[in-house]
Amino acid sequence: MAARDLSEFFAAQAALVPARRASFGRAERLAALEALRGAVEGARGEITAALESDFGKHPVETLLSEILPVLSEIAHARRHLRRWMRPRRVAPSLAMLGSRARIVPQPKGVALVIAPWNYPFSLALGPLVSALAAGCSVIVKPSEQTPVTSALIARLIGATFPPDLVAVAEGGADVSTGLLSLPFDHIFFTGSPAVGRIVMAAAAKHLTPVTLELGGKSPVILGTDSDLAGAARWIAWGRFFNAGQTCVAPDHVYVPAGIAEAFADRLKEEVARMWSAPDALAKIVSDRHWRRVKGLIDDARAMGATVVTGGQGDAASRSLAPTILTGTTGDMEVTREEIFGPVLPLIPYDDLGAVIAGINAGPRPLALYVFGGQALADRVMRETSSGSVGVNLTLLTFAHANLPFGGIGNSGLGAGHGEAGFRAFSHDKPVLTNRFLAMPMLFPPYGARVKRLAALVTRLSG
Ligand code: NAD
Repeated sequence: MAARDLSEFFAAQAALVPARRASFGRAERLAALEALRGAVEGARGEITAALESDFGKHPVETLLSEILPVLSEIAHARRHLRRWMRPRRVAPSLAMLGSRARIVPQPKGVALVIAPWNYPFSLALGPLVSALAAGCSVIVKPSEQTPVTSALIARLIGATFPPDLVAVAEGGADVSTGLLSLPFDHIFFTGSPAVGRIVMAAAAKHLTPVTLELGGKSPVILGTDSDLAGAARWIAWGRFFNAGQTCVAPDHVYVPAGIAEAFADRLKEEVARMWSAPDALAKIVSDRHWRRVKGLIDDARAMGATVVTGGQGDAASRSLAPTILTGTTGDMEVTREEIFGPVLPLIPYDDLGAVIAGINAGPRPLALYVFGGQALADRVMRETSSGSVGVNLTLLTFAHANLPFGGIGNSGLGAGHGEAGFRAFSHDKPVLTNRFLAMPMLFPPYGARVKRLAALVTRLSG
């Protein structure tokens, strides 16, 4: 879409903001959410087909990770919208006795949602749900890497909403760049840390607030007391779901040296049990990414790593076998960059302190997983910093309706999902009303009485 069209798009939405603030109440927001629910429900088959066409995603995975999250985000927002929108009374402080204070959430205005390709449907529409619940109008920019899903999103939204409420701008970095030059009231970006930096720099020009949902390497720590079978099941699922193209997927696993071999065997069994069917594992999204991920395996192997299982792939169909590596070292690419594919290095350790120090020396992870007892979980939680922590499970921290989701540092800024998503697109406006506030007694001229009162108020409030 040309830059001029983008600004017209934007202008149409922005022009309506004052009127919408006044009229887009709970009933209208609920109606918008209901319309979106109907559109998603009615397109289940098309959504499944689009994801299958874009990167061979299994229909069950599409149901669980593309359709269900959007429908449950909508259901959650509809259920809680009254409470989220309600102005919150706050108690007056001593110096403010005689006033009434409230926090009134107000829609920020026109929001931009930029989505990645890895969950191209749910990561475009999930933030849209939050934005509509908050009363914003929205431009959604889905990923160009999944063109069939992006076209479907554009068609569904076009048939469901007037373009001055929700519009879809299809295209790649050029369209994103055009959009980012506009003075949005909020930008919700999901994607890589590298592009996150570009988005934040562009937003700074207009002082536009941002939510950045980014990525990075999410480690797993196994304790000596962990249930090996349970850990193997959760890790084999979490790593290879969506062919490992998941922002919160376990990126690598630290295993106590004494049980490393036993765990590798368990994991290999689980991988074979879960992922052997020919259509079970999704494909890699593009030729470029296929070459990148295959390159990580080949590079590791050439530098001395052992392939426990997998390693092979087919460039034409962009398939890669679920791959487990051991013997990886710090100088390999697989250790240095976010893997984002069906490859899992197992790293033996003797000293938990050194593992924690290693994690703390790198960028803060989006997710960190611990398998073991409470003492291990408590220590890791206390001594590390990450977007979220999952104990004896993987991935599900992303899916809990009542938990905010977001990263920290290199893995993101701000949070989304549920109430956190609503707050991201709202301005919590403090409103202070004078009923019989005694402060005028402190106005100048500063005579003896004012001085006494000022001293008293300071003493009582301090
Ligand atoms: P990406 O950053 O390449 O692209 C994301 C979006 O930004 C796309 O819509 C793309 O068109 C746009 N874009 C690309 N280059 C741009 C530029 N120069 N200027 C402006 N916009 C640009 O990310 P991706 O490859 O689609 O997704 C993978 C990354 O996203 C991984 O790092 C992953 O961990 C992360 N991710 C994070 C979350 C989360 O919730 N934290 C979820 C999914 C993916």
